[in-house]
Amino acid sequence: MMNSFFADMHIHIGRDIFDKPVKITASKNLTITNILIEASRNKGIKLIGVIDCQSPNVQLELKQLLEKGLAYELEDGGIRFEEVTLLLGSEIEVYDENCKGPIHVLCYLPNIKEMEQFSEWLVTKMKNITLSSQRYYGSAKELQYKVKELSGIFIPAHVFTPYKSLYGKGVRHSLEEVFDPDLIDGIELGLSSDTSMADQIKELHSYTFVTNSDAHSLAKIGREYQEILMEEPSFKEFNYALQLVKGRRVVQNFGMNPKLGKYHNTVCDKCLSAVKPNSIKCENCGSKKIVKGVADRIDELGNFKGKVEGRPPYLYQVPLEYLPKLGPKTYTKLLESFGTEMNIIHHVPYEKLVDVVPENIAKSIILMREGKLLIQAGGGGKYGSVSET
Ligand SMILES: [Zn+2]
Ligand SMILES: [Zn+2]
Repeated sequence: MMNSFFADMHIHIGRDIFDKPVKITASKNLTITNILIEASRNKGIKLIGVIDCQSPNVQLELKQLLEKGLAYELEDGGIRFEEVTLLLGSEIEVYDENCKGPIHVLCYLPNIKEMEQFSEWLVTKMKNITLSSQRYYGSAKELQYKVKELSGIFIPAHVFTPYKSLYGKGVRHSLEEVFDPDLIDGIELGLSSDTSMADQIKELHSYTFVTNSDAHSLAKIGREYQEILMEEPSFKEFNYALQLVKGRRVVQNFGMNPKLGKYHNTVCDKCLSAVKPNSIKCENCGSKKIVKGVADRIDELGNFKGKVEGRPPYLYQVPLEYLPKLGPKTYTKLLESFGTEMNIIHHVPYEKLVDVVPENIAKSIILMREGKLLIQAGGGGKYGSVSET
């Protein structure tokens, strides 16, 4: 029997079991255990990918959860904790002679055993595997082969961001320059793009798009996610959904309006004022450092106009905490009344929301459910914002 499940497949870890940093810029309370608790109890997300699992101390923390009987490994891959299934992933920075610049990719493996084997191999290719998103010294294709040898899933990450991505910075024009296209299982869109933007690039048409939070804190889990139709949340079923096996598929992507992403517009790096796509100088301050926005970059690369058959809808959303006037107190009240964030965003009817929160907040939750929130564009590393009306 098929069912639908919400999934966020790109979440970082801030600290390991010994309180040592994993992703240095991430929150200190972002441990694997806290992520599992937050996803299961507050967010209501059924499948998560944590992409710093190559770190041996993270594996140790997971093994302790298994030993204590708080979690268990699934036969089809993944670790179940309460209501959520964890897929073990690793974000890696590739930079071989074909890359001409660093590219982030996401690798997911079925279980702890495979992730340990992957870590053993990575040690020979990386300076420090205990930290997040480290540079890997080897060819991109060799990494793809290793992931496939271990029955893993390979997905280029946030492919349009100006830094550390496949199409960013304007140095690459095609994924074939770097990767074996047959060994790519999906494409992660990233916060500043959506399906219709990405579909302007023909070579992406055959891949499933995934939309993930890239969360550096507990609150940001579920900032972007997808709804997947599958039999149960597991590694095998997620893989099936990416490959469209027997009806499994992503049925809906949920993400921030690309205008909310911090690299949507082309702007001056110094004063952040908007500049035209091909300017070499900022008219406002004269600086020559221009950060090309994702929208202009896609315009440049685009070789297709129109809609691609069979793509799931992309619905604009933000996490509840982004809604104007929705402070921590209201957030807690909502959770106490309705359980999880996913339930509040997708299911609780207006009449029930207004029993708990003021009318204007209940209205913005409904507007968000329908993808109708108004947005102010971001650019140059500055996030966009949700308008108050
Ligand atoms: Zn990244
Ligand atoms: Zn990341």
